[in-house]
Amino acid sequence: MLRRALLKRCPLCGAGRLFTGWFRMKERCPGCGYRFEREEGFFLGAYVINLAIAQGMVILLAVVPLIVRLAGDPDASIAPFIVGGVIGAVVAPMIFYPWSKTIWSAFDLMLRPVSVEEPADKR
Ligand SMILES: [Zn+2]
Repeated sequence: MLRRALLKRCPLCGAGRLFTGWFRMKERCPGCGYRFEREEGFFLGAYVINLAIAQGMVILLAVVPLIVRLAGDPDASIAPFIVGGVIGAVVAPMIFYPWSKTIWSAFDLMLRPVSVEEPADKR
């Protein structure tokens, strides 16, 4: 399931074309009809994944390089590290957005498999 999600595919059946645009996910899988938003607020988990990615990218692109650079030269400019921080905080989450949704769907399906109690969501 996680491998399918990493390929931006349906974690349940592996079908592709889940997005109509970079930021717009279809309501249901075109392959199996699985409804991605299983409950209201479902994609809060995707937001958390994306936030963690953004924080990690800021640490990798700005904080750690800044510490290393300032340790060697305390008078060095911090401008490149600010640019790195903006890339990590703003650009990286936008790039990673579709994967955050498919990965969250995969995590949710691993923890809560589709059950008979939600037959309307299976099509
Ligand atoms: Zn599917």
